[in-house]
Amino acid sequence: MIISLDGWAAGERTFRFHADTEFFQAFDNKEILEAGIDVEIKAVKEGTRKVKADLHLSGTLTVLCDRCLEPLEIQVDTRPEEEFEAPSTESDWDFSQAVYDYACLSVPIHKVHPEGGCNPDTVKFLSHDGQKDEEAAPSSPFSALKGLFESK
Ligand SMILES: [Zn+2]
Repeated sequence: MIISLDGWAAGERTFRFHADTEFFQAFDNKEILEAGIDVEIKAVKEGTRKVKADLHLSGTLTVLCDRCLEPLEIQVDTRPEEEFEAPSTESDWDFSQAVYDYACLSVPIHKVHPEGGCNPDTVKFLSHDGQKDEEAAPSSPFSALKGLFESK
């Protein structure tokens, strides 16, 4: 996601990129399973080496739900407040790190499906509260796993 600062006159230019799953894997991110983020960079050139830019990210990121461990799609639509200023010594301006950082920032700390959206089967086995509902079942966690395998 590199903008060349050479070869265009003063004024505004819009650059578009796409951050896909491989983009996040290149950052060694294991949390993001799938990604499809459209990146729009509006750059304003005020002088040969004076360029400012606004960033807009929109699309989806897929992570694992904290509650049921099933894939959870997160809608991303973020316009960082930060105003980016081009490096004054280079002719290329790389936005990869900024795109990565702001995309990751838009993932909430508590990543859970909306109420009722979790996979009830996995929640049942993963939830600690669920054990209270079991009547005379032995308290060994392996008994729950045994049931899981037998039901298949
Ligand atoms: Zn869930």
